[in-house]
Amino acid sequence: MNPHCPRCGAGCSVKYGRYLRAEDAQSIQRYRCKACKTCHSSATHSPTYRQKRRRLNRLVRADIVSSTSQRRIALNQGCARKTVARKIIFLAEQARIKHAQWLESQQELFNNVQWDELETFEHSRLKPLSVAVMCCTKTRSIVGFGIAQIPASGKIAKRSREKYGHRADRSSAMRRKVLRELKPYVAADVTFTSDQHKRYAKEIKTFYPESIHIQHESIRGSLTGQGELKRTGFDPLFWINHTLAMLRDNVKRLARKTWCTTKKADSLNDILAIYIHYHNTKLIPQPTKNAKFDFEG
Ligand SMILES: [Zn+2]
Repeated sequence: MNPHCPRCGAGCSVKYGRYLRAEDAQSIQRYRCKACKTCHSSATHSPTYRQKRRRLNRLVRADIVSSTSQRRIALNQGCARKTVARKIIFLAEQARIKHAQWLESQQELFNNVQWDELETFEHSRLKPLSVAVMCCTKTRSIVGFGIAQIPASGKIAKRSREKYGHRADRSSAMRRKVLRELKPYVAADVTFTSDQHKRYAKEIKTFYPESIHIQHESIRGSLTGQGELKRTGFDPLFWINHTLAMLRDNVKRLARKTWCTTKKADSLNDILAIYIHYHNTKLIPQPTKNAKFDFEG
């Protein structure tokens, strides 16, 4: 069936020739609405409508989730850094839609998950951020995540206060938001596994009153596992720790001792949205057909 008219919404469009799109040399079908006599094409209905360099979408996405800096992507693809930054915003929007569809398409609710946080920073180490991640213990897929600012702790706490003033701890509100939003996709009698963070038990009980919550002592990290994989033989939090190690390894700005840093928390949010979609559909083998959730363009 021909697409509906974007102007008047009527479904009476007829084919009306083709044109060759100069930007990527593709032949595009045009349509004419019989009701309002205006023209549109199959490109009008695509999420990449009016984009200039559609070919870059796929390439930027593949690179940004493979530990490549935005500057290097721009250099390798022969485009401006600004173009890469804009593509990331677009890809993140698409990834959020696809992730929501992926959650909806799960045949059963998640009934065994692990929950933990990873620490990074925006602009300066004196301004830390916390990234909470929920992962499935069966498939290691990432169910959801959230980002929030937290105050600096330890030796740098005093310097942070002197330079940037009081920094409120927004991590609890963020964790509650993530737990609440993921509720439709998680079973009521879910088993949560986490470390012994003081607030987790109360937060989880608030949203999942029938859940079973198991807390384990934290174990010291090993250098090869990006500080997330642990030194002992058996780690009860392996699934979440392995997922966090993958985040640190595949997202350039989350690596330890990197000079590639997050400048704004929002852009970290965008890149993580792109990453978790890629993680769930490409990196982790899934029973569903991956192509269904792939990007257009
Ligand atoms: Zn029309």
